[in-house]
Amino acid sequence: MNNIIDGKKIRNEIIEDLKKQVKHYLIKPCLAVIQIGDDSASNTYIKSKEKACNEIGIYFKHIKFSEDAKEIEVINKILELNHDDYVNGILLQLPLPQKFSADKIINYIARNKDVDGLTDINLGKIFNNKNGMISCTPLGIMKLLERENVDLAGKDVTIVGRSNLVGKPLLGLLLNKDATVTITHSKTKNLKVHTKRADILIVAVGKKHFITKDMVKENAIVIDVGINKEDGKLYGDVDFDQVKEHASLITPVPGGVGPMTVASLMLNVVSAYQKQQK
Ligand code: NAP
Repeated sequence: MNNIIDGKKIRNEIIEDLKKQVKHYLIKPCLAVIQIGDDSASNTYIKSKEKACNEIGIYFKHIKFSEDAKEIEVINKILELNHDDYVNGILLQLPLPQKFSADKIINYIARNKDVDGLTDINLGKIFNNKNGMISCTPLGIMKLLERENVDLAGKDVTIVGRSNLVGKPLLGLLLNKDATVTITHSKTKNLKVHTKRADILIVAVGKKHFITKDMVKENAIVIDVGINKEDGKLYGDVDFDQVKEHASLITPVPGGVGPMTVASLMLNVVSAYQKQQK
């Protein structure tokens, strides 16, 4: 039984579709990525964004500040990019070095260029079920479920993790699709009770193999967002080998949610470009 969701394949299909669209544009879309410092995981993620842009024909602008930069310099750069008609999307690569406030800086990004969907306005729009930019990992997960023809209406969904990046936007998106959603976190009592009754279990905790087989309902759909690096290898938050025997569908790490995050960013850049052209 092949119950493994191939995020890489779906990513490639989305990139191919976008490439066909962008081919016809006289002026190419442009994504600006702002990086502060030299975090090695961030360098890897930025490279994968640049690769996807190159595949599609999106112009990629990498703006790098040293850790010694002042917050105001980064904000001024964002204001400049907000007014640059050739820049369609702006993304602040996270995490930032400790002295910077991501929340403060992100909110200077113009809402129609906020391709990471992390400004207060775009996060809020999800909860009013209004069109806005949707943050890339939650959007990628929704696309995966859509491609697998999962009907969310009335399903019991448990999300483990309540970050602004993953858990909270997903809560709104799933509610908008009529799922019954439980969101859990580090203060949740009896976590297993919540995970075990889920038709769909989505895990974004950041702890290797945190979810074991006994915590998962038979035939559940399991979406593993976690990326945990150990001895140069990547592991998810779900004990994949155990849980895959038990699940009706499951995402692997790597090759599940990760590639879909980049694909969703590309969808957001092209969508921002199209809206700005109108
Ligand atoms: P985060 O901001 O650190 O949030 C982690 C969440 O897990 C928090 O809500 C925390 O609860 C909760 N948590 C911690 N221990 C728990 C426990 N024992 N029981 C229940 N909940 C617990 O992390 P994040 O940014 O959401 O990322 C989570 C993971 O996903 C990381 O491995 C990250 O690398 C990965 N990630 C992957 C992608 C991708 O593209 N695949 C994208 C984003 C993130 P509290 O709120 O109470 O602290």
